[in-house]
Amino acid sequence: MQYRRLGSSGLQLSALSFGAWVTFGGQIGRDEARNLIAAAYDNGINFFDNAEVYAKGEAEKVMGDVIADLRLPRDGYCVSSKVFFGAVDNPGPTQRGLSRKHVAEACHAALRRLRVDHLDLYFCHRPDLDTPIEETVGAMDALIRQGKVLYWGTSEWSATQIREAARIARAHHLHGPSMEQTQYNLLHRQRVELEYAPLYSELGLGTTIWSPLASGLLTGKYNDGVAAESRLGHKDNAWLQRMVIGDEASRRLDRARRFTALAVELGEKPSQLAIAWCLRNPHVSTVMLGASHTSQLLENLGALELVDRHDEAVWNRLEAITAE
Ligand code: NDP
Repeated sequence: MQYRRLGSSGLQLSALSFGAWVTFGGQIGRDEARNLIAAAYDNGINFFDNAEVYAKGEAEKVMGDVIADLRLPRDGYCVSSKVFFGAVDNPGPTQRGLSRKHVAEACHAALRRLRVDHLDLYFCHRPDLDTPIEETVGAMDALIRQGKVLYWGTSEWSATQIREAARIARAHHLHGPSMEQTQYNLLHRQRVELEYAPLYSELGLGTTIWSPLASGLLTGKYNDGVAAESRLGHKDNAWLQRMVIGDEASRRLDRARRFTALAVELGEKPSQLAIAWCLRNPHVSTVMLGASHTSQLLENLGALELVDRHDEAVWNRLEAITAE
């Protein structure tokens, strides 16, 4: 495993990390979740990502139980949560968003579910236009001063919003955001490569990137249709299928097919090639993997060996072939 600093902070995260979205508390059972966390940790993964909204808190419970059961040393791994969407069906106005009240209460609930006394990383899962950024920055700073959170960050905030949070923090001597959690893969590049570009040196911003395989699309598993036992074939995920595959005009499936054909031509596994491409970006602090089977996770870990295997011309070809 390689380890990378989270932006300009001193925290070293494994270049590949592991997240619970859709799978924990939903698609997979506890035994598979346990196998996945054990395999991840045994292979050097030291960051596990979660959120209050994943399976309405159930994903955090499963992760907390499994980590406790495996007796992972608390100083040997990092765990995160994210606040914004709430952890109940139809959350009321105080049960969601980024008010001081919900940020604090969601943190306490995540600590209980994950069975830890601090979160290593805590994210504002989306911007909240109904709460002043000053209030959210103050709430995050307070959690850090109380020792309940070590690093806070944002997820899918605009560069302008992140810069504003950092400015407020600096002006009031508060802890500012250390990282952004954003989507990054061969089919979705703009934010990480263009919008956030000035923030890496300006703020020392780290990135924990999600959906490196575009929910599995870049493995080629959807090239010939959507199998019922896959993420996009799951009965509750019709919305996600629309989002990931897009409509005819978006040509995302075509781009994925061209990508998998090139991977095969190169003699590489598409999953590993797609993840290795993400790892090549030095502004990516960690690539968060998802998996419904341990075999997928073990395959994806092989991406680390591909990063330096091909020359620039190959990577350029890959980018050209997947361009919109
Ligand atoms: P990926 O894009 O890597 O998708 C993972 C899924 O793809 C797996 O669950 C599996 O689905 C399939 N897959 C993975 N590897 C293989 C393989 N080798 N062969 C075949 N199929 C494979 O990552 P995620 O979308 O899961 O994102 C990673 C993490 O990022 C999440 O768990 C979550 O923690 C975080 N995240 C954060 C978001 C945010 O808004 N901040 C949003 C989304 C995710 P299956 O087998 O079911 O088809």
